[in-house]
Amino acid sequence: MKRTVRAVYPGSFDPITNGHIYIAERAAAIFDEVRVSILVNPQKHSTFSVEERHAMAREALSYLPNVTVDHFTGLLVDYLRQERSRVIIRGLRAMSDFEYEFQMALMNRQLAPEIETFFIVTDPKYSYLSSSVIRDIFQFGGTVHDMVPPGVFRRLRERFPPISQGRDPRRNGHA
Ligand code: ADP
Repeated sequence: MKRTVRAVYPGSFDPITNGHIYIAERAAAIFDEVRVSILVNPQKHSTFSVEERHAMAREALSYLPNVTVDHFTGLLVDYLRQERSRVIIRGLRAMSDFEYEFQMALMNRQLAPEIETFFIVTDPKYSYLSSSVIRDIFQFGGTVHDMVPPGVFRRLRERFPPISQGRDPRRNGHA
């Protein structure tokens, strides 16, 4: 009987961007199941609640039948064991990601040697994209609609109403 290989793609997804979606889509083409899992860290301030992040991710990824969305708290390797997964997916944008990701991968291997971290390289057009960049650009009135799915754009508008946009002297028509 064929074994189902489930991969977990963990992250903050605060909010999910087109860069995250690109990684999930490529992972979905390789693994039987991909679980996009939002790490709930009570110590870390997030812009969107876990429910909002969950809803945005679910909506954006609904076109991928083998991708599901979940959230977890605590150690990633414990979550993987609980989910019967042995694969962690992470995205790489630039060398600046590498050092941190490499350290995390080694730490996770130390904690759980049976678990493998898979890195998927981003598309160059997403290499500058991060959730924090999106939040910053949006708050200062920049255009982000081609960097995030429509549901995220809508929620950003609700979260940061136009009064906080477009007043920054740096704006000058572009981000
Ligand atoms: P974390 O706080 O765990 O880094 P993020 O939501 O910022 O959570 O990122 C989750 C994963 O997605 C990380 O592996 C990160 O490198 C990757 N990622 C984030 N943005 C992009 C992007 N634009 N292209 C490819 N991968 C990305």
